[in-house]
Amino acid sequence: MKDNQIYITYGKDAAAMATELMNAVDLASMIGSRTRSIALKPNLITSSTPDHGAVTHTEIVTAVIEYLQDHGFADIRIIESSWVGDSTRRAFAVNGYPNISEKYNVPLVDVKDDAYERRTAAGITMEISRQALETDFLINLPVLKGHCQTLMTCALKNMKGILSDRSKRLFHTLGLHKPIAALNSIRKPDFVLVDNINGDLDFEEGGTPVYTYRMLAGTDPVLMDSFCAEQIGFDISDIPYIGLAEKMGVGRSDLSKLETIELKDAICLPSKSTGRARRLERYTDAESACSACYANLINALARMDENGTLRNLEGRRVCIGQSFRGREGKIGVGNCTRSFDNTVKGCPPSANAIREMLENLT
Ligand code: SF4
Repeated sequence: MKDNQIYITYGKDAAAMATELMNAVDLASMIGSRTRSIALKPNLITSSTPDHGAVTHTEIVTAVIEYLQDHGFADIRIIESSWVGDSTRRAFAVNGYPNISEKYNVPLVDVKDDAYERRTAAGITMEISRQALETDFLINLPVLKGHCQTLMTCALKNMKGILSDRSKRLFHTLGLHKPIAALNSIRKPDFVLVDNINGDLDFEEGGTPVYTYRMLAGTDPVLMDSFCAEQIGFDISDIPYIGLAEKMGVGRSDLSKLETIELKDAICLPSKSTGRARRLERYTDAESACSACYANLINALARMDENGTLRNLEGRRVCIGQSFRGREGKIGVGNCTRSFDNTVKGCPPSANAIREMLENLT
């Protein structure tokens, strides 16, 4: 695949979606020689399970291992470090990684116990897992979700799990953005498979999963994060580490050059919103809405809630869903509401495009 491409699929079966994407991009050819070492870097920030919206679905990790072994790769390991104060071993155990390790003969590397190398970029010296640095091909398996400090976490920020705890603390002292960009300028992922099944609305620890049932694949972590930022309702400039990473040569953020390849259409499943997402549903009128479209609308409403523009919608509801095809109305989202007075095109449209349309309603 080309660096300016992002492959996208939708579905409920995370393993099947991951396999579909790896086949579509021909990941095996991308890696090359079967003797190369490969590291899988999931997001196991806490000892929670994927249904909370914080950690990578375990089926994705298993699907990647099976794909790699089916294609003749043998030197595979899983590397991760939970956030400071939590135990990676516990996160591994809660999500069944010891069984995966045994079944597939794939070592688990708790980065908290690894040897580190000190590296410096942009004037920041950090301790990075030696195994992460030495591996030939690093596959990043982030969750696309909100973050209480950086607003969003996805490909670039997930790399923080290859640091020592001491360096993670330093990153927070330095405000996260510049260090995250610097880290990726030293060790960026070679391939990114984004778990966008049900990432959290606004908090990296989960608790308010938003069911999108989507997965994305790409090679440029800057482009991936730029696209994903817009998908959950942010301008790229809202997430400073994206622009900083671009300036440090990690990748490109120009979405005008992006080519998206959708392997399947969005799927339509009943909403499972909870908490804050549930409260935002009172601004919606959904009938047969695809899950990704609806999730993007909920993300757009959340961003408006955060920036104070949600009051623009008081007393109004936003129509969304396939039942609105061919119907007229006031405010709608997506191609299904193309006949409405106010609408935003897309199938699905990004949360950022939805937010801009809703904020400019008169
Ligand atoms: S525009 Fe309609 S068909 Fe397209 S994703 Fe939204 S609800 Fe589904």
